[in-house]
Amino acid sequence: MSSIAVEKARQVHKRHPGLSFPVDMEWVAVAEGCELLNWPFTEPVREMKQGRWIGIAEGLEERERRHLIAHALAHHLMHRGNQLSFHGWQRISRNKQEKEADECAAHILIPAAELARVKEMPLWELADHFGVPEELIKQRMTVFASQEEKAGWQLAHEGH
Ligand SMILES: [Zn+2]
Repeated sequence: MSSIAVEKARQVHKRHPGLSFPVDMEWVAVAEGCELLNWPFTEPVREMKQGRWIGIAEGLEERERRHLIAHALAHHLMHRGNQLSFHGWQRISRNKQEKEADECAAHILIPAAELARVKEMPLWELADHFGVPEELIKQRMTVFASQEEKAGWQLAHEGH
């Protein structure tokens, strides 16, 4: 787990306190100095980042679009250079930068404080509340959960 990825996501929420959910990623990306472009990419390219420019494939479903913008913003916050992403949950290997961007994006979209408030909701409702794919909620609550969260959830579970 990358604590840098989680910290970068925390800083975004510190710079823009009081964001409502689902997070308005287009607004946040622009506030963080990025420019968004809709681009007619051909499959499997969904998102591209070059400098401060974020290109997102046209015609994507809203939740996927939000997730891709968060992912590109995460690269912007953590990595230099350009990233071209071939997105898909079934991808077997993702390099270190891609994993860091995925983790940071999960924490931008689903920050710890809000998750703690609503985590008793069923999965579909959490996905609805945060406006993200259900798969991202699952990842956020497993591989991308912070140590503190894991410890807290374990205690709550044992308490039942
Ligand atoms: Zn990427």
